[in-house]
Amino acid sequence: MVNDTIAAVITAMGASSVGIIRLSGPEAVDIGAKIYHGKKDLRLVDSHTIHYGKVVNPIDGKVVDEVLMMVMRGPRSFTGEDIIEIQCHGGTVVIQKILNLVLAQGARLAEVGEYSKRAFLNGKMDLSQAEAIMDIVGAKTERSLDLALTQLQGGLSAKIGETRAQLLELIAFIQADIDYPDDDIERLTEDEQQQRVQGMIDQIESILQTAQKGQIIRDGLKVAIIGKPNVGKSSLMNALLGQNRAIVTDIPGTTRDVIEEYVNLNGIPLKIVDTAGIRQTDNLVEQIGVEKARAFLKAADLVLYVYEPLLGLNEEDQDILKLIKPDQPVVFLQNKMDLPMEEQKKAEALTIINDSPAIAISAMNHQGIDKLEKWIIDMFFDGQLDISQEVMVTNARHITILEQSIAHLVAVSQGIDQGITNDFLVIDCQSAWEKLGFITGDTVEEDLLDQIFSQFCLGK
Ligand code: GDP
Repeated sequence: MVNDTIAAVITAMGASSVGIIRLSGPEAVDIGAKIYHGKKDLRLVDSHTIHYGKVVNPIDGKVVDEVLMMVMRGPRSFTGEDIIEIQCHGGTVVIQKILNLVLAQGARLAEVGEYSKRAFLNGKMDLSQAEAIMDIVGAKTERSLDLALTQLQGGLSAKIGETRAQLLELIAFIQADIDYPDDDIERLTEDEQQQRVQGMIDQIESILQTAQKGQIIRDGLKVAIIGKPNVGKSSLMNALLGQNRAIVTDIPGTTRDVIEEYVNLNGIPLKIVDTAGIRQTDNLVEQIGVEKARAFLKAADLVLYVYEPLLGLNEEDQDILKLIKPDQPVVFLQNKMDLPMEEQKKAEALTIINDSPAIAISAMNHQGIDKLEKWIIDMFFDGQLDISQEVMVTNARHITILEQSIAHLVAVSQGIDQGITNDFLVIDCQSAWEKLGFITGDTVEEDLLDQIFSQFCLGK
């Protein structure tokens, strides 16, 4: 049972104007009061009030800093417990000193994610909402943030809750049939059972259908830029970034490592990797870059293949193109279109290559980049980026659970078709119900909780 008081610095470490140390637990107010000198006794003040004063070391009476003490009593607090937040000046030494003081007074250093875990255990939020906090902190664009906020507000939990309630009703019907086989009670026909199961499968599938978009918005679309050396890959990356992050040179093979950056494309984070020119090389450093590039390429959601139409696609290009998996979407980018080209070559440059679209660009002059952006939105979002109202599943853990729940429900549906007895049907129904509960945390084991909350950052 949770009964000790935890403390941690909840602001980022490093010099800044303010730093905050949070105490949570039954002793929070007492510990705060022991190190605080101000007009009032913190033990007697109202909840949700702020008090100016000094933090004083109770052992030598020395003033450590001028602070604001925030008092929030449970259950009306983030964790559901008594909370004290000490707002001090943002120096690393000051913050550390105050943290040490509260630890010396009996608080324990909070573990990673422990505040959110307590909030979950005290019923302040369900598991998917706690996970949303992690996503809010890590949000890469405003759209990623919107999605995380919908989850925090319980959008996903509500949908899962509906399906679970329907499942429970079905279980009750089947169980009654098992328990009172001869009584005159309301029963479902096989068709009615089947209808209900199908309805639930459809509901879960419709949530799962949002997974690809959801994950892209949360984690970014992995985009690999590949091509021969010197065709303008780094320049393209810079054009997309709108800043000079990669070093552009005209010595072949100078981009020696994998450079990774996030680009905000209308709210979709693109995780772009400019790869070291993938080619045979004796240089060890370059070789490492090439290996990393190949690994990223394998995992990419989209490949941008850059070449110069003036030079055409030659054998070296064909060798690199072989590294792309057959099911990976590719866009051919015909770079340096600003250079003088014969009309014939220009016309050729605009066709489709290997069933993939080809777009003429000039990375240097930022031409054609808008066409590429439009293509990406068409390809991954059906041209529709307005997803603000949708509940989307973004978390790999949730996706796996939804898939497993569907598998159990499919087993129920097949069982009904095959005339399997109720005792067996109810087992798969219960498994699906339990699995769905893992998303909200209604049914969950302690070690899973530890695993989930250990992914949080300290102070969350
Ligand atoms: P990478 O080796 O594929 O990454 O190629 P870089 O981006 O380093 O570019 C190689 C050379 O081509 C540099 O001198 C660039 O300035 C030049 N370059 C890149 N894009 C363009 C373009 O659109 N037009 C022209 N004219 N030159 C370009």
